Amino acid sequence: MKAVVYQGPNEVRVEQVEDPRIEQPTDVIVRITTTAICGSDLHMYEGRTVAEPGIVFGHENMGVVEEVGSGVASVKKGDRVVLPFNIACGFCRNCLAGKTGFCLTANPGFAGSAYGYVGMGPYKGGQAEYLRVPFADFNCLQLPRGEEHEDDFAMLADIFPTGYHATEMAGVSPGDTVAVYGAGPVGLMAAYSSILRGASKVFVVDRVPNRLRVAEEIGAIPVNFAEASAPEQIVSQTDGGVDRGIDAVGYQATVPEGEEQPAVVLNDLIETVRPTGSLGVVGLYLPKDPGGPTEEARNGKLLINIGRFFEKGLRMGTGQANVKAYNRQLRDLIIAGRAEPSFVVSQRRPLDDAPDAYARFDRREEGYTKVVLKP
Ligand code: NAD
Ligand code: ZN
Repeated sequence: MKAVVYQGPNEVRVEQVEDPRIEQPTDVIVRITTTAICGSDLHMYEGRTVAEPGIVFGHENMGVVEEVGSGVASVKKGDRVVLPFNIACGFCRNCLAGKTGFCLTANPGFAGSAYGYVGMGPYKGGQAEYLRVPFADFNCLQLPRGEEHEDDFAMLADIFPTGYHATEMAGVSPGDTVAVYGAGPVGLMAAYSSILRGASKVFVVDRVPNRLRVAEEIGAIPVNFAEASAPEQIVSQTDGGVDRGIDAVGYQATVPEGEEQPAVVLNDLIETVRPTGSLGVVGLYLPKDPGGPTEEARNGKLLINIGRFFEKGLRMGTGQANVKAYNRQLRDLIIAGRAEPSFVVSQRRPLDDAPDAYARFDRREEGYTKVVLKP
């Protein structure tokens, strides 16, 4: 079959690789109909991780079940399913508590696992024609058959539940004011989720004009941090700061002019949120960042202003999204016509176009907010 294979920094190729096969009785094989490129893939693509050439990328996958292992009870050949990016067993302590982003079985010794991701277990990615899905009864979310809502449902594999998870960790409640840093697909989904949860005002911070435009189109207030300090712009429009803050940027923040180190978005958030407010951090921070500018950064240590954080009595949640905790409910909002997360999809391309699509998405080119590939 064809698959998107990492070659080294800034290069992927579509190559012939071995077809996946049932390895455990609890596996199914899914024929991929839609698979998205994620900002998380870019960490590997840019050579900023310890990813080795040969990895098949792709953790945002959906498709139709092609083959079913003998121990699978509820999933049938022909079912249309979307697959949470975290692979979870469903029976460990964390899975039972709904913390499926931290499954203790699927990737022993590391918190959490995923398809096609360095450090996240031995699982191949789904930017390919077929994908092996472990613990299939737990990891397949059933979808209505047919082709309706294809790109909306594809967003259930990662970014819609991830954006929602950020609002859950931050505790966004009706009437709250919210600031989301990052207008990439994840930030836009966090802003969209905040609006779904009844936020009264949502600010979205970035500097990429077309991304800020999309934020405005869904009813958020765009804030361009390249024009003036984002915390100052937001605090001046609220009563001493927003109630909730969301980090959808992570360690890959831009480097401010005249400085050598990337901005630490968390410090901006600490200034943006009112005293006793709370933060949800889904932007990725790496335990090791081989390309980091300093020894500390290379060891995943950034300077967080803990003094201000303490002084303001803030709270914070972090980590991988527990996709399973929300994807059924978010699916049903899509089916009911009350959520349409595919507004973020700007490019639909055949799998063969992956090398070009990666390069343009990586440059955050106009029109490359979210790319889905159609094998
Ligand atoms: P992206 O790279 O497309 O978006 C990041 C955005 O942040 C860009 O638009 C960029 O211009 C903006 N930005 C850079 N510096 C900034 C700054 N100082 N202030 C404000 N904005 C700034 O990525 P994405 O796909 O939207 O993903 C965002 C982050 O979420 C990534 O780190 C990704 O790895 C992570 N992620 C986490 C999870 C999870 O489960 N926790 C899941 C998916 C993605
Ligand atoms: Zn992703």
